[in-house]
Amino acid sequence: MRKTLYIIGLSAFVFSCAPQKKVVKTTYKPKNPVTQPKTVVKTPMAEKPKPQITNDHGVEFFTTNIADPTKNDNTASYGSIVSAKPSGYKVVKTYFPAVAQNFRQKYLILHYTAIPDDKSITVLTQQAVSAHYLVNNLGDNEIYQLVDENKRAYHAGISSWRSDKNLNDNSIGIEIVNAGYTTDATGKRIFAPFSDDQVKKVAALAKDIATRYQIPATNVLAHSDIAPTRKQDPGPMFPWKKLYDEYQIGMWYDEAAKQSIFELAQTDFQTRYNEASFIFLIQTALQKFGYGIEPSGAWDDATKKTIEAFQYHFRPQNYDGIMDAETWAILQALNQKYPVK
Ligand SMILES: [Zn+2]
Repeated sequence: MRKTLYIIGLSAFVFSCAPQKKVVKTTYKPKNPVTQPKTVVKTPMAEKPKPQITNDHGVEFFTTNIADPTKNDNTASYGSIVSAKPSGYKVVKTYFPAVAQNFRQKYLILHYTAIPDDKSITVLTQQAVSAHYLVNNLGDNEIYQLVDENKRAYHAGISSWRSDKNLNDNSIGIEIVNAGYTTDATGKRIFAPFSDDQVKKVAALAKDIATRYQIPATNVLAHSDIAPTRKQDPGPMFPWKKLYDEYQIGMWYDEAAKQSIFELAQTDFQTRYNEASFIFLIQTALQKFGYGIEPSGAWDDATKKTIEAFQYHFRPQNYDGIMDAETWAILQALNQKYPVK
């Protein structure tokens, strides 16, 4: 995606030469006209309608989408205009808007705070970590905004998904107040549930953000997806399937595809389980799906944690971090349904 935009950027730069010269003709008097190429086409640039700007509570917006949605991947909404105000000069916004632009917000990352409401507010507003939004657990209708969507919040840390790294740079982060987990006598993590009204709040908020920035389903993720060796949140109690089924948010596999793959996967799964080539195949599939995992051909600790993160999201009934035929079938069904573009 980034490469595509780079190419668009380059071609936009190349093609911009011609129209710029047409503009120069009427607005700029070069000191040495001899140096101007003689083959410049002198036909005036067709007059394009200028985008109008509206003002809402002191914030300016374009009234139409000025980007070209056929060339960009997330240009559907208009966004606020932040401009310089250089002393003695006038910045004009409506003369030359460029089609080659889009939003920086490519990902939506969900978290739990693992601490109660009051502490969540203190930590996320007064310390080195933050998120754009905080969903409380008070049963009211409020959602707290802590950081402007155009600014970077510090919620993701060291992170990656597919070809992207450091997702603080290009994501919106939502923190949900939740107790996190405790560990039982066998070492198993027992996670706290989310209340129904929290899930509804998160769904409404996620829907609004994903729609405005055209965030694709593959980029609506758990913190544990983008940092699987470090993080567990929002954990297996977060109802990803419900968000997919009822709000069309994020990814989920097709049951029929999973079942047919599962029947095939079961036949030789146990016999191949410890073959290095089979482990490598599974690690490569996790990597292809998006996880930042280095295929090693061994069931190493990073692989176990990555499988656990995958299970938190897509097979929450059993999140033991051990690859089994069902988890393997779900992973393959997802890779079929959401191929890398
Ligand atoms: Zn987190």
